[in-house]
Amino acid sequence: MLQNIDALDLVKSYSKQGLTIWFTGLSGAGKTTICQAVYKQLIEQGLKVEHLDGDLVRQTLTKGLGFSQADREENIRRIGFVAHLLTRNGVIVLVSAISPYRSIRQEVREQIGAFIEVFVDAPLTVCEQRDVKGLYQRARNGEILQFTGIDAPYEAPLDPEVTCSTAEETIDQSVTKVMQAISRYQVSSMSFGASV
Ligand code: ADP
Repeated sequence: MLQNIDALDLVKSYSKQGLTIWFTGLSGAGKTTICQAVYKQLIEQGLKVEHLDGDLVRQTLTKGLGFSQADREENIRRIGFVAHLLTRNGVIVLVSAISPYRSIRQEVREQIGAFIEVFVDAPLTVCEQRDVKGLYQRARNGEILQFTGIDAPYEAPLDPEVTCSTAEETIDQSVTKVMQAISRYQVSSMSFGASV
């Protein structure tokens, strides 16, 4: 029975189908942490996987872009373009980027086709308490401007495929949700002949 089959086995069975899993959420919500754990599980199965992490991408592909709305949109469009190329070549692409604007996320979803949106959801107060990179403190001190959640907007997904409530669930629980969503997608896309 489907619900008793291990999610990893399913993903492996359908591994020729590329897919982008797009993690959006506030800084410190847990996007990178969950992505890295999902990446590890997938790569251990010998699957073709890439992780495009917002912080790393900003040092390379989108170096020089700032944090105005226009630059943030350009940042996401470029990441989306690369994710699209990889996805259509059978790669499972994990994107972790704040990606605060709903309309641009919708745009990359439509471009890529094979797309799962994961809302990594944690209250701002929790993200600020975690302050993994010390950025919230700097934003509160006025040293960083246009910081998402402080003086720049974050538009939460209205209908994400997965929501990981990281203030309430463990990292393992979040990872399991994502793995199950990947396997569900792979099975349904094979059944209905979806292609990218
Ligand atoms: P982001 O990539 O969204 O900026 P990070 O993954 O860098 O966030 O940091 C999230 C922090 O929250 C990490 O220190 C992580 O250990 C912690 N954390 C606590 N619970 C969870 C959870 N359920 N899922 C993900 N991260 C969690």
